[in-house]
Amino acid sequence: MIIPKYSMGIGDRFAHEGKAQLKAFAKAKEMGVEIAPVWNKSNREHQIIHTQPGDVRKEADAAVKALGWKNPYFVDADHISLKNVDGFISASDFFTLDVADFTGKPADEKSIKAFVDKHAAYARKLDIPGTGEVFNITKESLEKIARKYLLAIQEAGKIFRKVESVKGKDNFVTEVSMDETDMPQTPVEMFFILAAIADEKIPAQTIAPKFTGRFNKGVDYVGNVAQFEKEFNQDLAVIAFAVKEFGLPKNLKLSVHSGSDKFSIYGPIRKALIKFDAGLHIKTAGTTWLEECIGLAEAGGEGLDIAKQIYVNALGRFDELCGPYATVIDIKKDKLPSADEVKTWNSAKFAETLRHDQKCKGYNPNFRQLIHVGYKVAVELGPKYYAALEKYEDVIGRNVYQNVFERHLKPVFIG
Ligand SMILES: [Zn+2]
Repeated sequence: MIIPKYSMGIGDRFAHEGKAQLKAFAKAKEMGVEIAPVWNKSNREHQIIHTQPGDVRKEADAAVKALGWKNPYFVDADHISLKNVDGFISASDFFTLDVADFTGKPADEKSIKAFVDKHAAYARKLDIPGTGEVFNITKESLEKIARKYLLAIQEAGKIFRKVESVKGKDNFVTEVSMDETDMPQTPVEMFFILAAIADEKIPAQTIAPKFTGRFNKGVDYVGNVAQFEKEFNQDLAVIAFAVKEFGLPKNLKLSVHSGSDKFSIYGPIRKALIKFDAGLHIKTAGTTWLEECIGLAEAGGEGLDIAKQIYVNALGRFDELCGPYATVIDIKKDKLPSADEVKTWNSAKFAETLRHDQKCKGYNPNFRQLIHVGYKVAVELGPKYYAALEKYEDVIGRNVYQNVFERHLKPVFIG
């Protein structure tokens, strides 16, 4: 099973927007650009929302059927580990193996030595074409990288083989993800991580490193865009080189776990993809949940009431809801509107405060991030929330579609 050159991860927390999302991909296809939709949902999301991986499969299949989509699409077991992979195996055909917890812990001495010996020929001045840099690699630096990452890749191998033993060879797409680590990986680290992936015989088609900067949920990139651009280009160069050196799958590509809406790096990403003729997987999952809230607000009436209720409730439970997301949100509490103020808002005011339009004066990234982590409130509304999604399907769907197409697919893949 081969993932196309371009793909985008689209989460859908409440599993009602599959068709609206897919319409955006159909529009891109109509314009001559093929991008594969990948519906992703992590174990944590499933637990909070009380859904099963099979629900994502059902949603994806139904959307594909309804729209007559004939191209590839995937269901992603997002950020899975050996502990929770079992429940995902039958419904998924894309597996994001999360081994971040195993980085920084050394593998056994024998494997570290074997790895260093096997790759000792690279302990020299290494010119990786396209990086614009000559890297000075020593046996010591190689060993240090092995100590930091080898155990993680061995773990990825275990998860991969477990999935393969059930699904069979070549019946799924494998991603190795290390984005949820403390420090970005350097180009040289990336090179040897890929060596280790090849040694473990993991046919990885996508790899998700941690990039420099902050990838806060639902809002734009915070960091040095020029530095990101340099790293992103170097990662593409390292991947192209490593594919040849280690015999990895030829379509191996970068995966950007964006945390949604990293608009200021979309331009540099697109430029680099063209320069290297490279593929890309980009995840922008939570953005759809925010469009649901925008749609509900725009609908007015009961829809607007629900949108307000979500904010007011989330504000009152700030610490509880933000706690688990501390490293990926950055909310200035004093910039949040009060509950009393929001209760007086009309549809337009609520929608413009939430919608990710940086040119709009009313847009408030603090408000947006709080709603981003406030989906638990919608879960608690239960049938009332689901009924509203159905009642206001048209206005919500329009927002979901426009967001995926105009703000994401177009700037990254179409231009
Ligand atoms: Zn991730």
